Amino acid sequence: MPIFHPDLAARPVPRYTSYPTAAQFHEGVGPADQARALAAIAPDDPVALYLHIPFCRQICWYCGCNTGVAASDRLRRYEKALLAEIATVASLCAGRVTAINFGGGSPNALAAPVLARIIAGLRQHFAVADDCEIAMELDPRAIRPGDAQALAAAGVSRISLGVQTFAPHVQKLINRIQPFEMIADAVAQFRAAGISAINFDLMYGLPGQSVIDLTETIDQAIALQPSRVAVFGYAHMPAAIPRQRMIADLDLPGAAARFAMSAAANRLFRQAGYAVIGFDHFALPEDSMAVAAATGSLIRNFQGYATGQGIGAGTALIGLGATAISQFPQLIVQNDKHLAGWEGRVNAGQMAGCRGVGVSADDRARAAVIERLLCDGAADVPAALAPALASLAPHAARGLVHLHGHHIALTADGWPYARLIASAFDAHLKAPQRHSSAV
Ligand code: SF4
Repeated sequence: MPIFHPDLAARPVPRYTSYPTAAQFHEGVGPADQARALAAIAPDDPVALYLHIPFCRQICWYCGCNTGVAASDRLRRYEKALLAEIATVASLCAGRVTAINFGGGSPNALAAPVLARIIAGLRQHFAVADDCEIAMELDPRAIRPGDAQALAAAGVSRISLGVQTFAPHVQKLINRIQPFEMIADAVAQFRAAGISAINFDLMYGLPGQSVIDLTETIDQAIALQPSRVAVFGYAHMPAAIPRQRMIADLDLPGAAARFAMSAAANRLFRQAGYAVIGFDHFALPEDSMAVAAATGSLIRNFQGYATGQGIGAGTALIGLGATAISQFPQLIVQNDKHLAGWEGRVNAGQMAGCRGVGVSADDRARAAVIERLLCDGAADVPAALAPALASLAPHAARGLVHLHGHHIALTADGWPYARLIASAFDAHLKAPQRHSSAV
C-alpha cells in the first residue's frame, strides 16, 4: 500500500479536467468568442460533443452538479431549446463528430423517445461519423421498461451507471437508495439490448462509509464485470454546495480512511484483472480506455479521463445545454448556468456562452505537462517550465516522483498524489481555493 502523507493528502487541488481550470473563468468571455472558436474548426476536423441534461428524478445529498428536479413542462421546453442550440452551433461548425456524450444531471430524466429525438437532431445537423461512440450517463432508479432497447435503437453504444455504493446505510445518508438487484437488472437489460460497454461510477469518502463497505461494494461491482469503473473521492464543500449541508461532518471518514479506501480500490480492481487508468479509473484490458492508456492516447477533459477519439490536443469538445463547457485549443467557454437565460439565448438563435477563459501558449504548455502526468504518470517538461521542477524536490525526497533532467515520472507511491504533484505546473493556483483534497 502506498504511504499516507497526511500533509499532502488533505491539500486542496483541482481535478485538472481542464487547464486553466474553472476557477479562472471570468465574464469577459462570451458568445462572440464562442462563435469565432467554432468557426475556426476546419472541415472534417474531429470534434466531440457533450450534452448536459441538468435534471434528476431525485437529488443526492453529495452531488456537486448543477441539477434539479423538474416538471414535465420544463423538460419539454429543454428538449425544444436543446434542438435549437444544436441547429445554431452546427451551422457554425464544419467538424466531423467522432464522440457524443450525454451527462448531467441524469440524461434519463428525459424519456428515451426524447433522447432519441435529440440524437436524431445531432445526426441531422452535424456530420456524425459512422463509428461515433454515443455514451450516456444513466440514473439506474430512473430506467423505465423498454429504455434499453429504445436507446440501443437510437445508437447509444455505451452507458454509465451511477452506482456510488451498495452499502444500504451509506445510501440512506446520501439520499440515494438503489439495491444491488436494481443495478444487476439494469446491466442485464442493456446487455440484452446489445449495449455491452457498461461503466460504473463508484465513490469513496462518503458519510458512514468504511473501508469494509467500499471493499464489499467493489466485490459486488466486479461480479457484474463493468467495462470501466471510476472511483471518485467525495468532495465535501457545504459552504459552496448547499445540498451537502444534509451530510453531517461527523459522519465523514477521516483523511487516513479516505486514503485507505483509495488504495483498496486500486488493489481490488488490479487483482480482478482491471487495468489501472490514471489515479481514479479502472478498465477491462479490452476496453478502449485501457487500450488508450496502454498506447499513450488517454486524455483528460471536462468528463475526466477520456479516450483520444478525436478529442486530443488541437481538437474541440463542444458543450451543448445549460452549464455545458466547450474546450477549444485557444478558449474554454461555459454556457449560461441559468436555465431561463440559456433557453432565452438559444431559442433566439444565439450562442449561450457567457463566461470562460482564454488559453495562452504558456497555458497549453502547462496543460500538456499536467495532462501527460495524470494520464501516463510521466512527462517531458519544456525548458520554459523547468523552474517548476525545483518545487518537486521534496516529493522526490519522499519517493513520490523520479526526476531525470527535464523528465519526471510518478512512482507507485506517488500516484495517489498525482494531482498535487501536477499542480507544480499550475501557474494560476492560489491558496486557499475551493477544490477537493488531493486524495
Ligand atoms: S442522480 Fe447524479 S446528477 Fe442527479 S443528484 Fe444524484 S449524483 Fe447528482
